[in-house]
Formats: sequence, structure tokens, C-alpha cells
Amino acid sequence: MSVPRTWRNRRALYSLEGSKCQKCGKYYFPGRNRCLDCNTNELENYNFSGTGKVATYSWVYTPPKGFNNRIPYCLAIVELDEGPKLTTQLVAVEEGDVEIGMPVEFSFRKISSEGDEGVITYGFKFRPKNYPNHLKKK
Ligand SMILES: [Zn+2]
Repeated sequence: MSVPRTWRNRRALYSLEGSKCQKCGKYYFPGRNRCLDCNTNELENYNFSGTGKVATYSWVYTPPKGFNNRIPYCLAIVELDEGPKLTTQLVAVEEGDVEIGMPVEFSFRKISSEGDEGVITYGFKFRPKNYPNHLKKK
């Protein structure tokens, strides 16, 4: 991710900010300037609650270059309570912990730092909603 793009996305990355259509009520993450449903440009910034559920997931054993994640890690598509879906990493889970429909919440984390320029790229991750008590039930 280049420096300008990191800067441009900064607010969305720090706060899970998207937009909401003032006409039809549809939510977008990341935010948009024009609604895909009703084609209005009457959208306002919206801060998502940060809670949702796992729509689907997979365990990754070979991370992309630049990621220093513990292997394996869980990559999931999370459906936010407001509707939009996003791809994110689930943290604080082990293989076997994750299932479709599991409630999760936004958990801000650093994702990666890029080599020579020392640019730290921040992003969002999610964790089980009842963290850290989600493991005590076992
Ligand atoms: Zn709309």
C-alpha cells in the first residue's frame, strides 16, 4: 500500500468509518460518494458499531509477503450489524474456535510495516464479541 493511499484511507481505518445513504438508508464500507441503489449523492459519514458476525472464513497457512502473522491465522468475511461485509483477520482465536454466524467485534490492530520507507500500515481486525471470555466456556 502506497503512502498516499494509506493517508487517504486513514480515517476509515482508524474508526471503521463508512457512509450511509440519506435517501434509502443503505450503508457502505468503505464509504462512497454515490449510492449504488438509488444513485443519490446524499450520503453522510457513518461510524459503524463495530459488531457483526462471521459470514465465512478460512485458515491461512502461507501469509502474503510483509505479513508477520503467527501461522495459521484466520481470514474471515464479517457481516456488520448494519449490513456491509468486509474481509478481515480474526484474532484471539485458535483453529476450531471459529464458526459461521459467530458474533465478532472490531479490534483495532497494526497490520504490517513496509520495509525501506518504514511506513506502518494500520488496519482493522476483529475478535470474538465476548473476548476475552470466549475461551472460558470450554
Ligand atoms: Zn440510496
